[in-house]
Amino acid sequence: MLQILNSMSGRKEVFKPLVAGTVRMYACGITVYDYCHLGHARMLIVFDMVRKYLRSQGYQVTFVRNITDIDDKIIARAAENKQPIAEFTAHFIRAMWDDYAALGVERADLEPRATEYIPAIVSIITRLVRRGYAYPAPNGDVYFAVDKFKDYGKFSGRKLEDLRAGARVEINEAKHDPLDFVLWKGSKEGEPAWDSPWGPGRPGWHIECSAMSTQILGPHFDIHGGGMDLVFPHHENEIAQSCCATDEPFVNYWMHNGFVRVDNEKMSKSLGNFFTIREVLGWVRDAEVIRYLLLSSHYRAPINYSVESLDQADAALERLYLALRGVELPTTVTASSASDKFEAAMNDDFNTALALSELQQLAREINIAKTAKNMTLASQLAGEMVYLAKVIGVVQQVPDVFLRKAAPKRGPEAYSTKAARSASHSEGKVLSDAEIDQLIAQRIAARKSKDWKESDRIRDELSAQGILLEDAAQGTSWRRR
Ligand SMILES: [Zn+2]
Repeated sequence: MLQILNSMSGRKEVFKPLVAGTVRMYACGITVYDYCHLGHARMLIVFDMVRKYLRSQGYQVTFVRNITDIDDKIIARAAENKQPIAEFTAHFIRAMWDDYAALGVERADLEPRATEYIPAIVSIITRLVRRGYAYPAPNGDVYFAVDKFKDYGKFSGRKLEDLRAGARVEINEAKHDPLDFVLWKGSKEGEPAWDSPWGPGRPGWHIECSAMSTQILGPHFDIHGGGMDLVFPHHENEIAQSCCATDEPFVNYWMHNGFVRVDNEKMSKSLGNFFTIREVLGWVRDAEVIRYLLLSSHYRAPINYSVESLDQADAALERLYLALRGVELPTTVTASSASDKFEAAMNDDFNTALALSELQQLAREINIAKTAKNMTLASQLAGEMVYLAKVIGVVQQVPDVFLRKAAPKRGPEAYSTKAARSASHSEGKVLSDAEIDQLIAQRIAARKSKDWKESDRIRDELSAQGILLEDAAQGTSWRRR
């Protein structure tokens, strides 16, 4: 039985979908004004894993992830770039999809964009105004009145008086209460604008998600997810808006993934300490290393980025591929007790850290079977490993394809601390697969003519380049260290 730690109750709860056999889930997506960073990668990979696991359990999943394609930063950046907004956001949406593809993150079933849902957004704001939960201000903005929603602050565990005490003294006479938040922003001269009953303007960020999730999934759905930083104010505000607009409970299970940290600070665009997905892809031999790293901790726990953590993930993934090497996969998958353990780990609030350790245990058992020359058992266990690992999105390639990939070249920019950056040095030339095959052929020829000195010289030359040779009865195989 799947249990999910529900951010709403703070407890693990048995997952029971609203409609048996189906799951409707929504995750807050990207605001497209820059390239996605590793913090985004974690959020994308976590909810991709959740969706894949739910599907593997037989659920029919409808997954929605929005795209915020209008906001203050987008307007400012597009103006800096002297680009029309639609052209500017189209570039970063394409780049985001490229990152998805590289990381093996499937596109959502629906990817609504704020600018395409203006009628739905205007309609939910109209309802909130009519019901007395929101008010238009003389400056053309429309605000949500937080004191009208009795549960405001309950979700994030905040008290209104504490929030007011900590609130910046804003020079905004349009608001009745400094905690009121904007639903509709009246446009200033030269800004993009859509017509509304309150004059030309654009939607606030929070209302987008309420409008799009409700329009597509209905006023009450199963799972809503996002990064931990969205708990307040974004999700607190979404709950206020949606509950007040519909009198429905909105969401049954709230899930939040932890931060990616750098030097014990949150990685974020606003702190300027972020690594983009495309940068990190250049520092690993394969994107599966990033998936392994980001799923090697429980999704709610923080993860620290460092080159060492990338290398540890690489080594762990390599152990799985080395076990699979030389083993033929079976045509049908047989489940052993490993499958039960893997499922138990995943059912415990998607504990991928434990699930990955079950895959490592399978690798050890495959190695034992190989040593005992029990290739039937090795094949059966290998088939099971590849099948289970599909949910995590790792070991989905032919072992040699992974094992022979060039070692990543990392410049100082890959290192998370200044000290590590200056200590790092760039690496030398990397041998191509063809060059390696050629050297191996020369070594085989040397061995045939019993020229052991030349054979050893070639082995040492390859070893110095990080290429390890393994001589076996059926020939010589190689991998990169
Ligand atoms: Zn959202």
